[in-house]
Amino acid sequence: MIAAVVICFHVGYNAFYIQTFEYLIVNHFKMEWMRMPGFTISDQSTRNSQPLNKLPKLVSRSMVIENGMNFLQEMGSDHICKVCISNGGSCCSGCRHLSNGVGCQKRNTSCTAWLCGFLKYMLYETGLLQEWNDFWDQVPGQDYREDFTPEYFFTQKSLHIQNMRVLSEALASDLHELARSHIAIGFILTLREKIDKNIDQLTYCKNDPARETKIKRNIKILSSHFHHFHKALSEFYPR
Ligand code: SF4
Ligand code: SF4
Repeated sequence: MIAAVVICFHVGYNAFYIQTFEYLIVNHFKMEWMRMPGFTISDQSTRNSQPLNKLPKLVSRSMVIENGMNFLQEMGSDHICKVCISNGGSCCSGCRHLSNGVGCQKRNTSCTAWLCGFLKYMLYETGLLQEWNDFWDQVPGQDYREDFTPEYFFTQKSLHIQNMRVLSEALASDLHELARSHIAIGFILTLREKIDKNIDQLTYCKNDPARETKIKRNIKILSSHFHHFHKALSEFYPR
């Protein structure tokens, strides 16, 4: 394995060799883990009667970021970001890692995990928000615009990537129309913050059905202008 690592560095450390390197490291750790006292091959299927896909999985920091980015890409977040950014709402604004015309120079687990009100709303409506939160809750070391996530760690939950670009295209078109038709500067950005706040509040009222109903009603009112999105959603998940 050491030889493989040396070769990786000698050939320029390109993406292919990074992946090969990660593969070797992950497998090395897996083998070490399986050699631990008390671990047998049969443990993999019988330990605590857990199915294989529920057992802790060794992952790398870069794999987790890639996973999150793929999820966002298939979700079609770029459609929404385009409208948001052209209305002055970029969440990367003022960040020292942002290079003009190039983009983020220091992708990290924190920024990948973070969702603004619009993206949060998409996942809320499609029922995927809990899965997203559960996935990122197991990733240690997240901070503001940087991370201290270890290079390798164990996770148990995974993200199921789904193509929802048709939904984000519809939401982007609603946002574009709203921004054009409202004279107030930053109308959609205020909307983004209100939706964000309400969805966050839902987390804290699990044992208060009356409050939960009230917040859900607020979200419905705030999103009542999203005509294209609601139409696309009803076609995406026909009842
Ligand atoms: S705030 Fe949301 S929509 Fe706007 S650029 Fe950031 S992630 Fe995209
Ligand atoms: S570190 Fe985060 S906020 Fe900064 S440019 Fe990258 S994604 Fe944007």
